[in-house]
Parts: sequence; structure tokens; C-alpha cells
Amino acid sequence: MRFQQLYYVLDTQYRILWVGGDWDEFALANAGEAARSNEVLSTSLFTHIVDQPTADAVVRLVDVVRASQAPLRIDYRCDSPTMLRRYQMTIQPMRDDRVLLVHDLRDARTFHQPLTHWKYRKDAHHLKCSFCCSVGTGPGEWTLPENLTGPHPEEVAYTMCPSCSGRVDEAISSLVANRSPKNPVTGGFGP
Ligand SMILES: [Zn+2]
Repeated sequence: MRFQQLYYVLDTQYRILWVGGDWDEFALANAGEAARSNEVLSTSLFTHIVDQPTADAVVRLVDVVRASQAPLRIDYRCDSPTMLRRYQMTIQPMRDDRVLLVHDLRDARTFHQPLTHWKYRKDAHHLKCSFCCSVGTGPGEWTLPENLTGPHPEEVAYTMCPSCSGRVDEAISSLVANRSPKNPVTGGFGP
């Protein structure tokens, strides 16, 4: 995963209409298969997201942007075994109920200790959060890769940790709250 910026447009069926930036690195790292940019047009975004909790979260984020016609930003991590990488995803409404998703690299640093290379396996014993990269280390316990006491698991199934699910909920409710008549996003100077 080396991309600096990646953007794509989705239609109302979550089909990819257009891609820009470093799609190839993104798709290869996430889907683990050759999903080159010229082959992804018109495919569903969900053929590139391997786990249901993450797919559901993206649907909810995209849908609230479409419904409110207001942009939304959320931070996430997408590490490599050697690099901690922080990204920000911005979802913006477009005409015709389309949305633009922009992923920007915000910060990248080298891990003091490189992590064990991991690969995705649907029924892997270990869970890994697709939003913050933490690893499920016990009942209700999630640990960021740099804080693991043992090696990073070699096989992981992606999901969302409770903390990141909470962040998604917060982002959605703040957008809904901001759009309420009491607190409109586009404040004016009154009548
Ligand atoms: Zn998380």
C-alpha cells in the first residue's frame, strides 16, 4: 500500500464510474488480487471490500452524504508491515446522486519493529480492524500493531473494532445533527 491519493466516483448502485490517483496500489493491497483501474470501472465497490462490517459502514457513510448533500470526513489507518500510514477519507456529494470518495495520505512513519507480513483469509482466527489496523487480542480487547506484545498474526480476517464502529456512528450522527433546522450547515445572516 503506497498510495498518496486515490479518488473515485460512485453511482447510486455503488458502482465505480471513474477512478483517479493511485488506484492500483489501493486495490491490490485491499482486494489482494489484480483489480487494475481499467478493469474496475462499472464494478461494484463491494467487490473490492472483503468484509461485511466494513462494507456496511461504507454504505452508511455514503448514504448519509447522499441524503444530506453534505461532505463527511473520517480518518483511518492502512499500514504496511513496515509503515504506519494514516489516511483521511472524504465523501462528497455530486450531481445526480453520485458521490466522490477521496483518500488522502496524511502521515506515514516507519515502525520501530517491522510487523510480520499478514494476509487476509476469510476464516482466519485473528481479526483485524479495517479502519484502525488494530488486532483483536482477547474478548473485547483490541491492540494497535505497534503495541502488540507478540508478533502480528500471519493471517487475519478484516472487520471493524467497536471503537471505529463508534467513530462511524458519530460521523453519521454529526452530519445528521448539522443538517437539522436548528443548526444548518450553511448558516446565513437571518432574514
Ligand atoms: Zn478500529
